[in-house]
Amino acid sequence: MRNEEWVSLYLHIPFCRHRCSYCDFNTYTSLADLQEPYTAALCREIEQAGALAGTRLPVHTIFFGGGTPSLMSPAQLDRILTAVRQSFALEDGAEVTMEANPGTVDGDYVTAVRALGVNRLSFGVQSAVASELALLEREHDFPDVVEAVQWARVAGFDNVSLDLIYGVPGQTLHSWEHSLRAALALEPEHLSLYCLTIEPGTPMNRWLGNGRIQPPDPDLAADQYELAGDLLAERGFEQYEISNWSLPGKPCAHNLTYWRNQPYLGLGAGAHGSANGYRYEVVKQPRVYIRRLAGAPTGPFPLTAAVADYHAVDQTEAMADTVITQLRLLQEGLDLAAFEANFGQSLYEAFDGTPGQLIEWGLLAEGNGRLRLTKKGRFLSNQVFYRFM
Ligand code: SF4
Repeated sequence: MRNEEWVSLYLHIPFCRHRCSYCDFNTYTSLADLQEPYTAALCREIEQAGALAGTRLPVHTIFFGGGTPSLMSPAQLDRILTAVRQSFALEDGAEVTMEANPGTVDGDYVTAVRALGVNRLSFGVQSAVASELALLEREHDFPDVVEAVQWARVAGFDNVSLDLIYGVPGQTLHSWEHSLRAALALEPEHLSLYCLTIEPGTPMNRWLGNGRIQPPDPDLAADQYELAGDLLAERGFEQYEISNWSLPGKPCAHNLTYWRNQPYLGLGAGAHGSANGYRYEVVKQPRVYIRRLAGAPTGPFPLTAAVADYHAVDQTEAMADTVITQLRLLQEGLDLAAFEANFGQSLYEAFDGTPGQLIEWGLLAEGNGRLRLTKKGRFLSNQVFYRFM
């Protein structure tokens, strides 16, 4: 079993004020009274993971995701970051990102979290169009976004990311362009653009069933994606991943860890992690999570007392994971020599005729020792990945 030389940390905060109509994330709207015990449990889980590592592992990125991490008080975030610094060696210049919902922050709040060492904010904007925000059942309006970004700048944040959603029922190419331009006017360093998927069990899925909304048109979504690519390229953004664009030098270092298939610890209810040859999932329910962390861990690093499920990654899975994650990186792609050095066989040997066929179909292309998705392959990336699974 190999030991990691460094890790990234994903810290899950499973609280929201209200559930959005499309959301199927592990988040809860009626557990605000658990924020204090949850903070204590998360600190314990961080300590357990650090102790299991047997050394203060260097950490080069931290990502507070949710849920709504910006519902946590600065004092709670401080305790969590202190636990990280005590149990791990947080590198100088480490990227520390916090997801935040516009409408949950003010100037004092972002100033306080900046002082704690958070140096990147990712705002869930989703749309600049009031009717789309209403359909998504987001609690904020676009003026809240404008204010939040202004406060972030005043507080000294020079790395701000905005999330937008396309493929929303009722959204047009024109309204999508309006949202993109409104977001660009705020001069973010990074944009994540996600295509809406309507998940079973969500209100939106019910509305689809009872005819309140029409299913999204995949051709329109493809046009929206293409429009975004053209507009962002004009503004100097680089598309470094299927859904992510940044100004030069500002990609999300944390998410690059996932896409390079490098080790990360998922801590907090429902978080997933991959390190030391294991993939694992932490128990989802916050009350159970808190209860479990009263106990001691029994597994090897990184399996804390809150881990509900895990398995050792074998060579077949590791090869598929490497391909599926690295192909998401549109510029970097998959390093063919590194793949062979790592697994003792070439990609073409490991996956038989699959890569050659995908190249023949124009979905992948090889160049400079790397395999990358083509423009056509980006639209059909799920089908490409499926062939390697
Ligand atoms: S804010 Fe995010 S996590 Fe919370 S309910 Fe909405 S989509 Fe889900």
